[in-house]
Amino acid sequence: MKDPFGRKIDYLRISVTDRCNLRCMYCMSPEGVKQIKYKEILRYEEIVRIVELATSLGVRKIRITGGEPIARKNITYLISSLSAMERIEDISLTTNGVLLERYADELARAGLDRVNISLDSLKHARFTDITRGGTLKVVLRGIERAEKAGLVPIKINMVPIKGFNHDEIGEFSKITLTKPYQVRFIEFMPIGPKEMWRPDKYIPIQEIKKLVEETGKLFPVEMKKSGPAQYFRFEGAPGVIGFINAISNQFCRECNRLRLTADGKLRPCLFSETEIDLKTPLRSGAPDSEIRKLLKLSVDVKPEGHNLSCGSEFTALKPMSRIGG
Ligand code: SAM
Ligand code: SF4
Repeated sequence: MKDPFGRKIDYLRISVTDRCNLRCMYCMSPEGVKQIKYKEILRYEEIVRIVELATSLGVRKIRITGGEPIARKNITYLISSLSAMERIEDISLTTNGVLLERYADELARAGLDRVNISLDSLKHARFTDITRGGTLKVVLRGIERAEKAGLVPIKINMVPIKGFNHDEIGEFSKITLTKPYQVRFIEFMPIGPKEMWRPDKYIPIQEIKKLVEETGKLFPVEMKKSGPAQYFRFEGAPGVIGFINAISNQFCRECNRLRLTADGKLRPCLFSETEIDLKTPLRSGAPDSEIRKLLKLSVDVKPEGHNLSCGSEFTALKPMSRIGG
């Protein structure tokens, strides 16, 4: 599928739940977000049908996200159903890592290719604060387990926020000196609990890069499937460092994705409230041709870019956990 701006859309990100076992300060308020009723959340068979139809239109890559996707019961069933589809080339999953130690092997056996782990502090007390109760040790053990299970390359995503965790940018980049991981820095976005976002907490990617360069000179790395990230390496390091400037429009030019929300809406752009309801037609017996038409429509209405800037006022978007970050 090509959108009106010539971008090839072959990537579907699926939020399988809006529930989470953590409450990261920049993502949710302490009491969590208002939850979608269980019966409104897509069932696995519904997701499988949508993916099957999407593959017939050219989708080849799937990312499972949430909320916390491993916290949804029987997630391995979904992974194995998707990995049985011939046209799917890559299945990845974004997780906070809490349940990885327990499930990494099972997920790998089910056909998961790799994981991205969100990690915003390497300091035990701060990690517990940011996540409102998480235990860093558990996540670090989960990452090791995932590596052993072959869910590689391991990607660690960090969101640097000024006055919150930006003093750890150097430490995160140093992980790549000893581990073959991809450590990726992602710009803080004006989405999530309103009280967290302030333009002065946002750190532009150029500034993040400068802080990384205090550890050593960076050399550009050409990656086959780099998506919106730009990659670099310290000399001789086994791992690489990625920079994702979500706020600048470069990100949009490379955008090859559609999102499916936990409540069954196709969302052509993370930052636009335009959504196409798939759940209602699915549940009222729509034929495949109609679902395909809606999938194509969501590509046709995909905007060229977003209008957010670092000075953006907070956007009253749906929480990230529901859209699928
Ligand atoms: N629970 C899983 C996790 O944390 O990896 C998957 C869902 S989470 C919503 C997906 C990603 O969204 C995480 O990497 C998180 O850091 C990111 N995220 C949430 N709110 C954000 C914000 N305001 N700005 C930038 N990234 C954000
Ligand atoms: Fe949960 Fe992920 Fe949001 Fe943290 S970022 S609260 S782990 S959904």
